[in-house]
Amino acid sequence: MNTQERTFSIVKPDAVAAGNAGKVIQLLTDGGLRPVAMRMMHLTTAQAEGFYAVHRERPFFKDLVKFMTSGPVIVQVLEGENAVARNRELMGATDSKKAAPGTIRALYGTDIERNAAHGSDAAATAKDEIGFFFSGAELATLG
Ligand code: GDP
Repeated sequence: MNTQERTFSIVKPDAVAAGNAGKVIQLLTDGGLRPVAMRMMHLTTAQAEGFYAVHRERPFFKDLVKFMTSGPVIVQVLEGENAVARNRELMGATDSKKAAPGTIRALYGTDIERNAAHGSDAAATAKDEIGFFFSGAELATLG
């Protein structure tokens, strides 16, 4: 069975500002996830609110939007074996302080909000999130 799939990833503003974007991308690539699309951008408030709309009733929503618009991010589409689950594994737990040693969030995050990376939580979410940021023509075909 071919289990190659795609997921959506963000190198968040804290990791980009700290100069760790390259290291995050390298860890993902070494972990078997290859970028098929990538863009650096500074999210607008509307874009961050739209992307995190599922969290809009949560008490941390305003802070999250402020954080995600605080500086440039790198949005990317990653392809690989079980990419959605693999990305979550490589990132570690949401709270950087509780993330397993060696994971992206343990290495480059600070706390439960400033946690260095985003990764889709399911295949259906990945499809929506990829579509939010990329058109089909921007997605590379890897040989
Ligand atoms: P994820 O799927 O691991 O990114 O976690 P969630 O979907 O639950 O949360 C989305 C993002 O909101 C997280 O990656 C954090 O940046 C932020 N976040 C989650 N929980 C909290 C919280 O309790 N407080 C704050 N300030 N931010 C949070």
